[in-house]
Amino acid sequence: MSSFNFDVITLIPKAFELINNLGVITRALDKNLINVNLYDLREYGEGSYRQVDDKPYGGGSGMLLKPEPIFKAHYSIKKFTKSRTLLMTPQGKVLKQNDLMRWSSLDQLIIICGQYEGFDERVRCLADEEISIGDYVLSGGEIPAMSIINGLTRLLPGTLGDPASLFDESHNSSLLEYPQYTRPKIFNGMKVPDVLTSGNHEEIKLWREQKSLERTLDRKNNLNLKHENKK
Ligand code: SAH
Repeated sequence: MSSFNFDVITLIPKAFELINNLGVITRALDKNLINVNLYDLREYGEGSYRQVDDKPYGGGSGMLLKPEPIFKAHYSIKKFTKSRTLLMTPQGKVLKQNDLMRWSSLDQLIIICGQYEGFDERVRCLADEEISIGDYVLSGGEIPAMSIINGLTRLLPGTLGDPASLFDESHNSSLLEYPQYTRPKIFNGMKVPDVLTSGNHEEIKLWREQKSLERTLDRKNNLNLKHENKK
């Protein structure tokens, strides 16, 4: 089976050292299920200073990433047949589990990370999709990119120890997962529900379905559903 390729354009490649130490990702890298290729934006910078940013036209605070280095970096990446380019931006569509599932059948995701005040507007034309990881602003696209790499990798066949653990999970069917317990049976006076220790698989299944529904109804109003119906 061929590997899934993540090609990331970033000013801070060092940030991605972290993903080597994240359980499932470490295993996926070891088993060659994924490749993570980093493109240091600085290397595509302009002039002897390798300039990558500049002041915004019309004034305003902060610096913007210039278009040329990002276009050069993007151009230099070998493109696979099933490939998409994602731009990390707080103005994008908020990331959902469905997006990760949709992308997991591709060969490649090219991820462009911003820094400073973001990008020159013309960078947007490189992107197939603009993605936000939530309605808040971070200082760079590296943590959003790592969220995508992490969330997508655990969906790839061969990554998780037990593939069945993907099925019941929160957000898969737009239902949240039922409450789970492990040993001990009683902890600090809090007892594991009897049904779970009953050995009655039919009842356990029903209980879980019911709890999953209750939990979803109880909490969904607080989840971000704004973009649920887009695309
Ligand atoms: N001035 C910009 C924000 C810049 S934040 C604006 O108002 O849109 C700097 C960079 O961090 C962004 O270019 C983006 O790549 C990344 N970033 C910040 N918050 C993000 C989020 N919620 N989701 C995805 N990327 C984000």
